[in-house]
Amino acid sequence: MSVETPPETADCPGCGKPRTLCVCDALGRIDNAVEVLVLRHPQEQDKELGTAGLLCRQLAHATLRTGLSWPNLAKAAGRDADTRRWAVLYLGTAKQAPAPELGPLVAVDRDGTPLTDQAAGLQAIGGLILLDGNWSQVKALWWRNPWLLKCRRLVLNPRAPSLYGNLRREPRRESVSTLEAAGLALAHLEGRPELADTLAAPMRLLLKKVRALAPQRPRLDRRRFRR
Ligand SMILES: [Zn+2]
Repeated sequence: MSVETPPETADCPGCGKPRTLCVCDALGRIDNAVEVLVLRHPQEQDKELGTAGLLCRQLAHATLRTGLSWPNLAKAAGRDADTRRWAVLYLGTAKQAPAPELGPLVAVDRDGTPLTDQAAGLQAIGGLILLDGNWSQVKALWWRNPWLLKCRRLVLNPRAPSLYGNLRREPRRESVSTLEAAGLALAHLEGRPELADTLAAPMRLLLKKVRALAPQRPRLDRRRFRR
């Protein structure tokens, strides 16, 4: 009988990260009421700093799909889904940052203008779609999936910059990681402020390990949008 030993370089099956960066100890288990669907661009291959996998591993109701286009929401979600009850979190079209008094999550129209009735805009959202990749990858996902236009549209209005700090240069302050974006949005939609912190725990541990492993490493300055 032979026991297959995974090579040293194999990723951790628990968290999907390289073994030297394993963050299983910090993975939480969250029973989310608002379902999450992450559409990941096929070229988004950041094994070290990518966060979509860490997000979906922690949520009881989450789907991670890798690809460029799907004919409709149902195909992307893998089941029947009503676009009117789903919202896409998109940061690309807002012409200017929403006013701080609007809060961390803002419902906008197709032009990126905040809706007058925010309570109605944020009400009865059953599912949240996030696009995962760098700036141009996210734009490609947006344009290749025109059914996204039928979904409700949300933008983040975070008060703090991304946890990535100087590990990654973000083009704009509100460009947080996919994990942080989902955490902020779910916390607000579900009225559970602690969700954002709980979800971000493995990302904090990951960044601590990355920084400890390579304190002198030059910062990763490929322009990132959301990962
Ligand atoms: Zn692990």
